[in-house]
Amino acid sequence: MRRKLVAANWKMNGSKAEISALANAFVQGIEVASVDVAVFPPALYVEQLAGILAGTGIEFGVQNVSAAEKGAFTGEISMSMVKEFGCHYVLVGHSERRELFGETDAQVAEKVAATLEADLVPVLCVGETLAQREAGVTEQVVAEQVVAVLERVGIESFTRVVVAYEPVWAIGTGKTASPEQAQEVHAYIRSLLAQRDANVAQQCRLLYGGSVKASSAAELFAQEDIDGGLVGGASLIADEFTAICQAAKGA
Ligand code: PEP
Repeated sequence: MRRKLVAANWKMNGSKAEISALANAFVQGIEVASVDVAVFPPALYVEQLAGILAGTGIEFGVQNVSAAEKGAFTGEISMSMVKEFGCHYVLVGHSERRELFGETDAQVAEKVAATLEADLVPVLCVGETLAQREAGVTEQVVAEQVVAVLERVGIESFTRVVVAYEPVWAIGTGKTASPEQAQEVHAYIRSLLAQRDANVAQQCRLLYGGSVKASSAAELFAQEDIDGGLVGGASLIADEFTAICQAAKGA
């Protein structure tokens, strides 16, 4: 039985005051007894967030990391820095990083490998654009993104890697994939993993992301191959995110 995971991606939003208010509201409102919860703040606020979440069972991580160990990489953050501040998760290959910052499948695979080597949990984001869905190549696109990582880190690592299927056309647009559309791709991803190891495929957690709201979460999380969600916009509203975590508990 896979334990559900709900993750908040705050992207480049917040201030010290807002992060304090939101994190404290999460601590008050979210019960972590039967669901895992992760928060991805902007990296500058990790230390502040760590202080608020200490001892609550709510984990946190960064939205991006460098695969390089250290050195002349202006603007980047290393894995040892991420570890030093107590992060548990690393978001890797979000579509905004792929699209806006040109991250390639090969770079994403290196970041997943570096995260695993550091004993942290990578949340690997994959998903197709609207044009790709309309061209009927969703499975091909997702397969390429997953296989690039599989070939780098091996199937055994997917007991620890979390995969977030996030159709790009559903991110921040208010257009959620229907539970059936999401389940179809999740089942496909699990089958891809199962071709290499059926046991690992059963253990791997697959999250859905793309305009998840409290009103759509329960039905999405009830799908056989959906093991939780990666939530952007709705994670900036304490009551919405708390309700989404609650929906995962019941699913
Ligand atoms: C995301 O950024 O990963 C995301 C799913 O955003 P939203 O929920 O706003 O679509």
